[in-house]
Amino acid sequence: MKSTAILALLLLSCGKPQEAKTEPPPAGSVRVTWLGRAYFLIETSSVKVAIDPCAKGDFWKADAREVRADLVLATHGHDDHDAVDLVKGTKAAIRAKCVTGEETAAGVKVRYVGVDHDASGGKERGKNTIYVVELEGLRICHAGDLGHILTDEQIKAVGPVDILLLPVGGRWTVELAEARKVAEQLAPRVVVPMHAKTDLTPDLAHTVDAFAKDQPNVRRVEANSAVFSKAALPASREIVVLRDQ
Ligand SMILES: [Zn+2]
Ligand SMILES: [Zn+2]
Repeated sequence: MKSTAILALLLLSCGKPQEAKTEPPPAGSVRVTWLGRAYFLIETSSVKVAIDPCAKGDFWKADAREVRADLVLATHGHDDHDAVDLVKGTKAAIRAKCVTGEETAAGVKVRYVGVDHDASGGKERGKNTIYVVELEGLRICHAGDLGHILTDEQIKAVGPVDILLLPVGGRWTVELAEARKVAEQLAPRVVVPMHAKTDLTPDLAHTVDAFAKDQPNVRRVEANSAVFSKAALPASREIVVLRDQ
């Protein structure tokens, strides 16, 4: 009887779902979590923003299916970027703006700039949006599936950037040299490479490590998230390499 009771207890504890919940980051800081492909969760102590949720099962980190966020942004209409209905608890969504403007949604200031998914004015793959969200004094820019280096007008429209989430995987977006050029153009303090070739996304051409190779100031984080604050930004541009799983 005793061993049966222990077994039952073990089964009960094993069957209990693992608490995936993480504590919010400390006040004044922002946690940036890469959930695979171009999908990010940006959290402060009071608000959560999901950007480019991906509908393609293979591209997901398993626990990304349980994301809750106040605001969800999608850079364009491709299904690896705009599965906004998969994010739970949302108060507002901004989808595929593809024009230049600004608004406040779910209490978050969001700037958007219309760009192209290719270097042919959008003729091959359509339009894309660059978003800049301001949280805890940090301007966080997500470049979606950017397909070209920026014009002076677009650089001005994006404005100052502290943290740039930059596609580097090529094939459907800018290739490595162009991605590095875009980083120079927007001159952020931190570049987080994304939309890159990984075990989850083998269709892309370049890995985050290929982007960081031979670059100065590279910090490798052996996790899929990092916490940033305005006061602790690096003095010169840093590439922060996250893992997507
Ligand atoms: Zn796309
Ligand atoms: Zn994409």
